[in-house]
Amino acid sequence: MTERKDELAANLAKVEERIAAACAAAGRAREEVTLIVVTKTYPASDVRALAELGVRHVAENRDQDAAPKAAACADLPLTWHFVGQLQTNKVRSVVGYAGLVQSVDRSRLVTALSKEAVRAGRELGCLVQVAFDAGADGRGERGGVAPDQVGELAGLVASSPGLRLDGLMTVAPLTGEYAGRQQAAFERLMDVATDLRRAHPAANMVSAGMSADLEQAVAAGATHVRVGTAVLGVRPRLG
Ligand SMILES: *Cc1c(COP(=O)(O)O)cnc(C)c1O
Repeated sequence: MTERKDELAANLAKVEERIAAACAAAGRAREEVTLIVVTKTYPASDVRALAELGVRHVAENRDQDAAPKAAACADLPLTWHFVGQLQTNKVRSVVGYAGLVQSVDRSRLVTALSKEAVRAGRELGCLVQVAFDAGADGRGERGGVAPDQVGELAGLVASSPGLRLDGLMTVAPLTGEYAGRQQAAFERLMDVATDLRRAHPAANMVSAGMSADLEQAVAAGATHVRVGTAVLGVRPRLG
């Protein structure tokens, strides 16, 4: 193995230990939680090494970086998750490689995703991003919709051709009533997810938790954690 691959293997092992311990503490089976490695700002060679180490889910937040990386890794058995704020003019490109878009937060985006998924002859998984710091306009600082708008947007996804409603995603807020209270935010997300499943029983994905707060997310009941820094290292720039 190369030095970098050794490093990634060691980091992955530590993250795996953390997830396993969090599952055990919560009385959950390890299989209930899927690790998604957030590879943003890191090169395709790292994605390749991660795939060789057994990673099957990767996430990116910028189409400009993700599109060439996904193309360079097209031979690998990976599912690509798009987790960033998404402009409609990038949707055609994203639908070309992403299996899921986790950051669905407005009806215009749903319309664009549906159109491009149909055009590509693909079924695209969608998570509605929930913002617990949503302001008066109902939108979060880093994307997402207020909890009371989830039902309507989810309904639109579920009725849109080419799209599959898979569940919910959140990023723990830095501001507002949930700032610094990740566990409370994630528990609130689980309540929203329970409501969602009444109308859409198959929408059972709950994507929450990052390097700093994956334990709280697993404790609350997340099915997917999105981990970047703890696997790849501290990013050279904000991403
Ligand atoms: C970058 C990012 C992550 C991973 O964050 P780390 O703190 O590096 O683990 C998770 N989710 C989203 C939406 C991100 O943009």
